[in-house]
Amino acid sequence: MTHKADVIVVGVGAFGSAVAWRLAARGMDVIALDQESIPNDKGSSHGQTRIFRALSQNHVDLFPLAMLSKQLWRELQDATKQRLFEASGALIIGENGRGRIANALEVARRFGIEPQVLSSGELRRQYPAFSNVSDDEVALVDPEGGLLFTEECVEAAVSQARSYGAQIRENIEVHGHREDGDDVVVRTSEGDFRAQQVVYATGAWTAKLFPQLNLDPLRIPQCWFSTEGSEHESPTLSDIPPFQRDLNSTDSLWGHGAAAPGWFTKIGTHGHPTRNRSVDTDNIDRTVHDDDVEYLSSLVGTSFDNLSSTPVESSICLLTMTCDEQFVVGRMRDSKVFVASGGSGQGFKHATGVGEVIADLCQGVEPSIDYTFMSPDRILSQR
Ligand SMILES: Cc1cc2nc3c(=O)[nH]c(=O)nc-3n(C[C@H](O)[C@H](O)[C@H](O)COP(=O)(O)OP(=O)(O)OC[C@H]3O[C@@H](n4cnc5c(N)ncnc54)[C@H](O)[C@@H]3O)c2cc1C
Repeated sequence: MTHKADVIVVGVGAFGSAVAWRLAARGMDVIALDQESIPNDKGSSHGQTRIFRALSQNHVDLFPLAMLSKQLWRELQDATKQRLFEASGALIIGENGRGRIANALEVARRFGIEPQVLSSGELRRQYPAFSNVSDDEVALVDPEGGLLFTEECVEAAVSQARSYGAQIRENIEVHGHREDGDDVVVRTSEGDFRAQQVVYATGAWTAKLFPQLNLDPLRIPQCWFSTEGSEHESPTLSDIPPFQRDLNSTDSLWGHGAAAPGWFTKIGTHGHPTRNRSVDTDNIDRTVHDDDVEYLSSLVGTSFDNLSSTPVESSICLLTMTCDEQFVVGRMRDSKVFVASGGSGQGFKHATGVGEVIADLCQGVEPSIDYTFMSPDRILSQR
């Protein structure tokens, strides 16, 4: 039994890298293990960018988590001198008084923010790429919004964790754990590791490791589009800022223009089920098929006059859906085991805040923000 730490973190994607950083920054002895290289394109934390929104959340109490996360992303950016966050603002588009707009205005009211609201005409004038919005839609400007650079964020959190003494190890698969007196013994492909506590930040693989959490791992195509008539050009971030647009009560379209030279416009859908979305994480089809992108292509065609509706690039990404589309962050009942997973398509932006909450919980400190609505107990108590 040679490997020993205060906390073992299993999985080093967005959540695990942030947990390792926040724990190590407090002087805790951390070992973090990933079955793949870090960063990797097998889980959920790859594909250049993730949108940061503070106002539009599926739970009103996510706003404080978003603000805590933003402060920590900036801290990470300053410490590593890497470009991690682009403060471009973000647009929330939808029917006035309904869906995402109503939800964002409720968050703004509760936290004393007065966001700018653009009429459909103002939106079309300011951003001609949105010329196809209908007259009853408005755009709410989220001043806290922007873009995070996915792989750079994971690398930065890992490098900071290492600078505080954390051991971050690649290509080690965790098979499970057992409690042994005051410790937890973690079984891996490289032998046993021992710690006082263990945090599982295993993304889509959490579904098999903790079937009692009832998680649904989904396979989602990430797609990039070029300017109509050109395979090499693209609208930029100033043409299409990060946005999410309600299509109906369940589906939305999200995306943004190219954020760096040589990059393309990234567009996706949230909500609409396409072919074989639920996957067995032991057997993932990583090829993007025509029928994976059919629905998205048709939406891009009708929503944007200036974009080709056939993706110029695409890749498969995993998404870990919970029963209420809310994260699973906290201690598993009566154990030394914590879970940070269930990103439900919106987790990346909150990863640093989740890291801070888990670090508090591991140290027995009450987190500064309410996290109980994300706790595993809400799911376990329904069983
Ligand atoms: C197409 C798409 C678009 C998205 N857009 C946004 C967005 O705009 N904004 C936003 O905030 N969020 C967005 N998300 C969600 C966000 O990307 C995820 O919530 C986040 O990346 C989840 O990170 P994670 O650390 O939970 O999982 P992952 O990044 O998958 O990390 C889990 C890690 O655990 C490792 N692992 C698993 N099992 C084991 C094991 N047994 N032993 C060792 N290692 C193991 C894996 O190899 C992996 O590296 C999007 C997701 C998708 C799919």
